[in-house]
Amino acid sequence: MQHFPIFLNVSGQRIIVAGGGDAAQAKLRLLMKTEAEIRVYAPDAAAEIHRWAADGQLTLINRPVAATDLPGAALFYGATEDAAEDARGAALARAAGVLVNIVDNLRDSDFITPAIVDRDPVVVAIGTEGAAPVLARAIKTDLEARLPVQLGLLAKIGKAFRHAADILPMGRKRRDFWADYYFTDGPAALETDRVDTALSTLLDRHVMAAAKTGHVALVGAGPGDPDLLTLKARRALDTADVVIHDRLVAPEILELARREAVLIDAGKEGFGTSTAQDDINDMMVAHAVQGHQVVRLKAGDPTVFGRLDEEIDALDAAGIAWSIVPGITAASAAVAQIGQSLTSRGRNSSVRYITGHDTKGFAEHDWRALATPGAVAAIYMGKRTARFIQGRLLMHGADPMTPVTVIENASRPNSRVIATTLSQLEPTLTRAALGGPAITFYGLAPRDAVALAPAHPIKEALL
Ligand code: SAH
Repeated sequence: MQHFPIFLNVSGQRIIVAGGGDAAQAKLRLLMKTEAEIRVYAPDAAAEIHRWAADGQLTLINRPVAATDLPGAALFYGATEDAAEDARGAALARAAGVLVNIVDNLRDSDFITPAIVDRDPVVVAIGTEGAAPVLARAIKTDLEARLPVQLGLLAKIGKAFRHAADILPMGRKRRDFWADYYFTDGPAALETDRVDTALSTLLDRHVMAAAKTGHVALVGAGPGDPDLLTLKARRALDTADVVIHDRLVAPEILELARREAVLIDAGKEGFGTSTAQDDINDMMVAHAVQGHQVVRLKAGDPTVFGRLDEEIDALDAAGIAWSIVPGITAASAAVAQIGQSLTSRGRNSSVRYITGHDTKGFAEHDWRALATPGAVAAIYMGKRTARFIQGRLLMHGADPMTPVTVIENASRPNSRVIATTLSQLEPTLTRAALGGPAITFYGLAPRDAVALAPAHPIKEALL
């Protein structure tokens, strides 16, 4: 080990950065997280650095660093991106006994700045002695994804609680308590502002090893591509005792559930369509009252055509704690796939999310508004109602040539895009015989074939 890792107390210490360009900015972003007094010497600093100076985050001196600037400083960063100038600054710093780092110059540096995962006071520093920056980045990305953003706050609160937790026997029992705190109960409590009570409740639970409190997370599974899951959704799956999922949720996503979790397909045959929702509500409540962590996994975003309110009402009625984890809705995934934007200056300043049918059958909408030129709508559950929608829009004066694009299985490898017009929507759609979920964009055409090609091959483009 050529470089020995230490955590240096820089609170109130002076750190000097020579340079005002990209390299300096990158270092300053890190340094500004510390409690150090930062001085930047640069005759031509970037506007961003001027802003930081105006905000009081650092002091900017508009000239090159000079010998008298260095005595008493803790660290010196040569970040002028000019080798001769950095060498001059480094020599001045060394003469004043200040440790030197020259950006991207391991050989002439006394210390190196590691890649950092910051969950202050929990800080992870990753170094490879300059050997493999790519590896350091990969490890950092991995840790960023694994450590909840609020871990720092949880650690601060947890530290004050350490003493109380000592009543649990050392070893497994105490470890389980802290694991629950950091990865399950703590993050959930932060969202509801009840960390103080949550810690005591959690401790009681572990002390008695009984009366566990259940919780239901109503989680968005996104459109199908597991990479489009949020980190929060992944963590919820990671800790779930029970996962109750829709039929539309992709198998690759269910794979991510904790190995011991019970998976329940809430879309499976056997539930009559009229009672299915009640059955789902009952299942959620039944598992949560047993103290289970339940994930109610819904396609896309749970707040979009997801019957979320009915589920929340049932949980509230049973006094069960719940939280919502948003997801990427099908419209967002589908519009990205055709290289378009849901809203566009000068074209449409609003977009409607509409459903083809509701509990009463075909859903009525403000057809007159939708028929105006430039209107854009994302139509969910619109396959079987395409002819109805087409008829209504044409009847209200919509231009028959209005572009309509149907995206089946958005974000999935077997996705298909069908570009057509309002007048041709039917019979084009019926002829395409789509088997998967599909979203219909009224008023949007794919930007162009190029935008579609690289990530998502179009198997069909009918016009
Ligand atoms: N909550 C979901 C929508 C549920 S309604 C969301 O936010 O996406 C079910 C409808 O969503 C389907 O009929 C279909 O119109 C649409 N849908 C869901 N996943 C889709 C996907 N991968 N591709 C295209 N449409 C999808």
